[in-house]
Amino acid sequence: MSREERATLESAAPDITFSGWVDYQIANSTMPDGPAPEETEQSGCFRRAAIMVLGPCVADYKKIRLIAHLEGDLGPLLPYLNAVLPQASYLPKAETLTFMDGYRMIALYPRRITIAKADEIVDAWLTLERIRFLAEQTWSDRDRIAPSFETRKKPPALEIFKRLPGTNCGRCGMPTCLAFAMHIWTGETSVKLCLPVFEEEGKFSHLREALLEICAGMGITGVDLG
Ligand code: SF4
Repeated sequence: MSREERATLESAAPDITFSGWVDYQIANSTMPDGPAPEETEQSGCFRRAAIMVLGPCVADYKKIRLIAHLEGDLGPLLPYLNAVLPQASYLPKAETLTFMDGYRMIALYPRRITIAKADEIVDAWLTLERIRFLAEQTWSDRDRIAPSFETRKKPPALEIFKRLPGTNCGRCGMPTCLAFAMHIWTGETSVKLCLPVFEEEGKFSHLREALLEICAGMGITGVDLG
């Protein structure tokens, strides 16, 4: 879509806030045949999901990220999912469970799901559907699962590094962005010390939300989400 077409669309829909644009990507995945799954009585933990934020993935602009808000509540389910997903990282105090679905990064909160690095909207929808199925299956099997409150290792610092400017300017006090990412990961510094991202309205301020999100998902100290 051209710049002019975007401007026309924005002016034709004054009640809608446009926060960015995602270029259309041809889907590699296909939607399954058949009707959409019915909402049933026992689907109490997930229920309906609404995609509220959709944008290009900060770590890879050819992919997309989204935030879906849930009608249900995943909070009581998270310890059970932690038990059945050995690679997940669970933070009981923050009520967050993060894991990889292939190359996609998933973070589950009680009433919110974030997906990063989905290929396109169909892939994102299918990923959301896989999560829904996993949630419902685990919830219905919970009497046979011992809930786990174990906190496992955090995802690699590389995921933080991918969301930093990558200029190695040194303003955070570290010689490189990678060194800074390692210090964030180990909780030795605050992500907000990356001044090009947090103090200036400029070409790196768009990284703020993604950085805060991944740090919060990893339960890193020194992160003020306010
Ligand atoms: S201030 Fe930010 S951009 Fe500069 S080196 Fe540190 S992490 Fe990288």
